[in-house]
Amino acid sequence: MTAVTTKPSVAGNGNEKQVHDRIHRAIVERRLEPGTKLGEEALCDIFGVSRAQIRRVLVDLSHAKVVELRPNRGAFVAQPSVREARHVFEARRAIEAAIVERAIDRVTEAKLRKLKDIIDADREALSRGDGEASIKLSGEFHLCLAAIAGNQVLSEILDELVARSSLIIAAYGQARQSDCSADEHGRLIEALRNGDAGKAVAAMAGHLNHIEALLNFTSNEARKPPNLRSILLKEPSP
Ligand SMILES: [Zn+2]
Repeated sequence: MTAVTTKPSVAGNGNEKQVHDRIHRAIVERRLEPGTKLGEEALCDIFGVSRAQIRRVLVDLSHAKVVELRPNRGAFVAQPSVREARHVFEARRAIEAAIVERAIDRVTEAKLRKLKDIIDADREALSRGDGEASIKLSGEFHLCLAAIAGNQVLSEILDELVARSSLIIAAYGQARQSDCSADEHGRLIEALRNGDAGKAVAAMAGHLNHIEALLNFTSNEARKPPNLRSILLKEPSP
């Protein structure tokens, strides 16, 4: 559960919304790798919906930049270029500096506690080797901070950037790279608690620089085709 609601672009049809969310989640949680073919026929069969519905979902996911529609070839999980990856992190540094500056005036003990709980849950997920939960919690920390900042537009932009960052780490991250360092999140909380805006903004910039610096923009391994059905019909972890 993130604090931010996704845009209701496939609202009005429960099935489509569900299909949309399942595919989006599988991509963001990196069960579907960048470049994976999303065949319309296979998806119709898996979800028991019409081709027109699947097409609408795929178009919607392409607007969110997590799916790429290639002319005459169909839909694929987006494969962000190096340039796009750089630009996403540049945008995050700008957006999240603004978020931290707003959050510092609005943060309360209860909200700090919530951020701390996310860090603890992330550490716990990592210690039991649950990479998917850790990915989700890393993103949740940033979105929770955005919710504290209280600017819905910044939250919506960040929601998209966090999803795209996950794809970027899937494409260029080192094996077993965790998204976020819990220690770095901890330092950010300390700066927020002390009301030190300069330090908090610097901690966020340093944190995002660090994630970007760990990416390897030269790797290009071949990957085997995934089992779409078992990935997409997997129940979400609690
Ligand atoms: Zn982080």
